[in-house]
Amino acid sequence: MSRQMGDSHRRFLQTMMSSGIVDEQDARKLHQFCCETHNTQHVPEQLDEFIGTINTQLQPLFMQIRKGTSEDSGQQFYALVNMAVTDITRMSSDYADNELELFVKTMELIVSSENGKASSTDILNSADSMTSKKLKKSETEHLLSRLVQDKWLDEKRGDYTLSTRCIIEMEPYIRSMYQDHVKVCHICHNIAIQSQICENPVCGIKIHNPCVARYFQGKPEPRCPACNDFWPHEIPRIRSPRSTSRR
Ligand SMILES: [Zn+2]
Ligand SMILES: [Zn+2]
Repeated sequence: MSRQMGDSHRRFLQTMMSSGIVDEQDARKLHQFCCETHNTQHVPEQLDEFIGTINTQLQPLFMQIRKGTSEDSGQQFYALVNMAVTDITRMSSDYADNELELFVKTMELIVSSENGKASSTDILNSADSMTSKKLKKSETEHLLSRLVQDKWLDEKRGDYTLSTRCIIEMEPYIRSMYQDHVKVCHICHNIAIQSQICENPVCGIKIHNPCVARYFQGKPEPRCPACNDFWPHEIPRIRSPRSTSRR
């Protein structure tokens, strides 16, 4: 198989550079569009090989298109990731130092919470303990909406979570910074922030909501896959991919 980049690969990469992250369905459509536009053979099953070819060329630039899963919908995403910088300094061209300090505080609140969420009130309160130039309430609110717009955070009814892009790009950073808090999902073994937790104190495994939905589907009684205790949480239903698409 050819590992040469063609015009179709270049066009795909350009779109990734401008959008940062696309869901699997959009990646498939984009793959088809790029191949058809540049008269190259389109093999739908070979999207990952197509991206592999791009990644080979991106390697010397310490960039990579990486696949990840939304903790919210269970949907697959592709994100263009800078491998050279794994911490938040990757955001320093877009955000001031005090803004990054508040983002780190927000990540801390989210990662150390039980449900993987932080309320806007908690985030506003945490601005009081900033060591760099303090952000006013209105500045914090503006910053939060920028972080959502730039796809670092997701917001639902005043609660903030780490976005799929943030988790794909910052997983190594999150793992090293928050070792005490971060667990991996018992089912898919990816980092688990928004998840359900086994209430047996000696067990305490975590499972993502979409993984819970898939794992317990068709099982007569939900029991923890690690300790066999009753699983006391509401079992979410498996959602169809398109209706849950978020960007
Ligand atoms: Zn999982
Ligand atoms: Zn358990």
